[in-house]
Amino acid sequence: KNRPHTLCETLKNSARRFPDKIALVHGDQRITYAELQQQVYNMAYQLIHQYGVQKGDRVALLLMNGIPFVVGLYAALQIGAIAVPLNTKLKTQELEYMLQNSGAKLLITNEEWWPNVLPIIDQIPAERIFVTSEHPPQGALPYSQLVAENAPFLVEEALHEHDPALIMYTSGTTGRPKGAVNTHFNLIHSAINYELCYGLSSDDSTVVAVPLFHITGLAGQLVPFIYLGGKIALMPMFKADQFLQILQDEQITHVIAAPTVYVMTLMQPDYKQYNTENFRVGGFGGAPMPAETVKALMDWNPNLELHNTYGLTETTSPATVMPHQYQLEKISSVGIPVPVAEAKIVDPVSREQLNPGEVGELVLKGPMVVPYYWQNEEATQKAMVDGWFATGDLAAMDPEGFVYVMDRIKDMINRGGEKVYSVEVEDVIYSNPNVMEAAVVGVPDSVYGEVVKACVVPRPGASLSAEEIKQWVAERLAKYKVPVYVEIMDLLPRNPNGKVLKTELRYVPVSSHE
Ligand code: ATP
Repeated sequence: KNRPHTLCETLKNSARRFPDKIALVHGDQRITYAELQQQVYNMAYQLIHQYGVQKGDRVALLLMNGIPFVVGLYAALQIGAIAVPLNTKLKTQELEYMLQNSGAKLLITNEEWWPNVLPIIDQIPAERIFVTSEHPPQGALPYSQLVAENAPFLVEEALHEHDPALIMYTSGTTGRPKGAVNTHFNLIHSAINYELCYGLSSDDSTVVAVPLFHITGLAGQLVPFIYLGGKIALMPMFKADQFLQILQDEQITHVIAAPTVYVMTLMQPDYKQYNTENFRVGGFGGAPMPAETVKALMDWNPNLELHNTYGLTETTSPATVMPHQYQLEKISSVGIPVPVAEAKIVDPVSREQLNPGEVGELVLKGPMVVPYYWQNEEATQKAMVDGWFATGDLAAMDPEGFVYVMDRIKDMINRGGEKVYSVEVEDVIYSNPNVMEAAVVGVPDSVYGEVVKACVVPRPGASLSAEEIKQWVAERLAKYKVPVYVEIMDLLPRNPNGKVLKTELRYVPVSSHE
């Protein structure tokens, strides 16, 4: 079968095959594939002819899930530009780095996030900032100027399948976020992997309950469903009751989401009252899923085929998927490599391949792995070892090839799928003049899996409270990175080489309160 080579082709195919089918649902708004295609042309036309955006230029999107996000993304791609989706939870100083590193020429945001951008408008390279309202604040342009009316069919920019489509920022061990460059080739393969592993077709529909600025929502739902020509319901913010209502009203067949989405759904007292009989494929990933949640989901909806799905931003979402027949039998496994991927377990030091059952670093290869990080040769070199992408996850494989993720090498906290690198929070705490030492770890949490805890040693003679530390971080970093627990200590536990023994800090302090 002829596969499409660019995401623009996937939309064009679906608009041709299913012009009158609903593509996007957002609140009361419903738009068909033909309308979506036209809206994309309208914006693409303006981007080229009005604002001179050219192939390879970057267009940043600081938006929650909604139609402007989707139109902005596909319009940028249509003219060969690279989209840079940004996390709306980020604070000004976090955004500044990404806007500078990506060199985005144009930014599309809304009124809610404008105050986070305002202090840096003179520092960032973006020449124009659009806000999705008719009366934008001073310094921004209205969204209406971004869309021409009934623009003609646009001559497609000569796009190659290996051209970058996205720059997705992920945090890293160095503290500075790294821009993973997902190409059209990466994204098409990820869509095909989902189609095959989940058994999806144009009759399927999905509800995006996770943010589109993360890879799960983008490469796990939006891109594959536009490729398939299925209906996509968008939730700007996850709320369990609304999620259940959409499953019922839109007769949704598919979801992929972080475990927290399922945990919270099952905490809804009346979840069994909704008619969710169409919901037949449930993917979960981004973080470990409690076994009891898997069982409760099966109990809720016996037709639901569940698939643990492991991936990273750098693997454009799925790297391993659990065939649903084995989901219960191999409940602690993340499944087998997707059809086009290769996976192996290596010794973290010697890089020798290990035998089944032995625990080492999981490394991956295949057309879903990003070719490089944006303008970050050092990070690229570090991540790609002998042609394999090093995940930073400790895992083992059983003799049948099922992968078990056991722990992490990378010093990261996984808060309900949202990743927090310890070093970034530690750096911010260290910038407080009253702090002598700090260590940041994850501690178990029943809803989020893990939450952030900071252990802080004040400078001699200085007074420092847990509240002050929380506030210090809250002013500088996104809310999900702010420690839920802060323990003031006299001394951090260290090994004889002086390395902080983080495992000894991974407990919920008795005296603390949220
Ligand atoms: P998203 O940002 O959309 O949540 P993601 O979790 O797929 O995407 P990253 O944010 O790059 O991608 O995080 C990848 C890390 O998440 C992995 O290295 C691993 O530690 C963890 N992870 C991903 N999937 C699973 C899973 N199914 N089970 C356990 N851990 C997972």
